[in-house]
Amino acid sequence: MRWPRQILFCDVDAMFASAAVLADPGLAGKPVAVGGPAPRGIIAAASYAVRSFGVRSAMPTAEALRLCPHLILVPPDRPLYRRLHDQMQAVTSRLLPVIEWTSIDEFYAETTDMQSLYPDPSRLGRRVKQAIFEATGLRCTVALATGKTAAKVAADAHKPDGLAVIEPGTEASFLAARPVRDLPGIGPKSAAIFNSLGIRCVGDLLDPQHAPFLRQQWGNRLIAWQEVARGIDHDPVVVDRESKSLGHESTFEQDTSDLATLEQTIRIFLGTLAHDLRVEGLAAGSFTVKLKDAKFRVTTRQQQFPQPLNYDPAMWPSIRSALHSLAIPHTCYRLVGLSLSGLLPATESLFERRQTQAVAALDGLIERYGSRVVRLGGIPEE
Ligand SMILES: [Mg+2]
Repeated sequence: MRWPRQILFCDVDAMFASAAVLADPGLAGKPVAVGGPAPRGIIAAASYAVRSFGVRSAMPTAEALRLCPHLILVPPDRPLYRRLHDQMQAVTSRLLPVIEWTSIDEFYAETTDMQSLYPDPSRLGRRVKQAIFEATGLRCTVALATGKTAAKVAADAHKPDGLAVIEPGTEASFLAARPVRDLPGIGPKSAAIFNSLGIRCVGDLLDPQHAPFLRQQWGNRLIAWQEVARGIDHDPVVVDRESKSLGHESTFEQDTSDLATLEQTIRIFLGTLAHDLRVEGLAAGSFTVKLKDAKFRVTTRQQQFPQPLNYDPAMWPSIRSALHSLAIPHTCYRLVGLSLSGLLPATESLFERRQTQAVAALDGLIERYGSRVVRLGGIPEE
């Protein structure tokens, strides 16, 4: 059967921990975790051998050592991850026509037009897994579905070294039984609210008895989640979206002319995006602020940072002043957006190292609790 649309999602299993084993094969099968040393460091990535002890990424290293006293802690090696990423990119770009990398170790590919070459989607999936393994030595999990969300959720459910195929027409029934937390965009806070209402699975989002409250709480986001729960997902694969820029935008429930609201929203986006940069070992050379007014007119302001940055308090003054020069007083805006571009591997000077450790601890907290609730003590917001 020819699929109306086919998306392949691929995610390397425990990328940083697996890379550590590639660099030192003596670590194979051992309880390896990548991260900073106790007492202040956090775990950046845990191998499957230590996950069985309850060790998770973003956990303080001290706690990880308590759970798994024979844990072998390896420092992060960004140049190695970058090299492995480049090797993966070299093989996937030969194999797949349209690829969108969403992080250093995961990508979506639009494979609809490859069906005459690979009538059996699992054959294509195995081919991709094998090619990446031969080029890098890394194992990954691949899933194919008609939409990005189903493919991503299926891959997460089949890790490690997995292969999943969600046949057309079965997306909704597959997703129905997955925890709501598995949906992209549902963080711990939203999941907690859902659970308190008795909404545990994706399928529960479609239960009409919850509809009024959910609509009031989440508005348009709920509609997007419900569409996905019904198996409707037209989100396209966009080539190189993440490798050249990283961005976020959001439509307000009510149009606003309040500069403080615009500022606050962009500041929250910046917190999340800068965190993503640091996790990827990247820095941004420039940024774009975007506003859409009530008449759907879009204005943007693009600007360079004085130097490539990935630490949000240092980035904020330029972004804030760009927003101030862009926003017209008494104009009602319906959408704000922020994107970071000119992405480069971050270089770390000696001077920055102490700060980097503090930021790593902050990133651990952001992973656990979300960027809205965590602020670094002693470092002023503005
Ligand atoms: Mg991964």
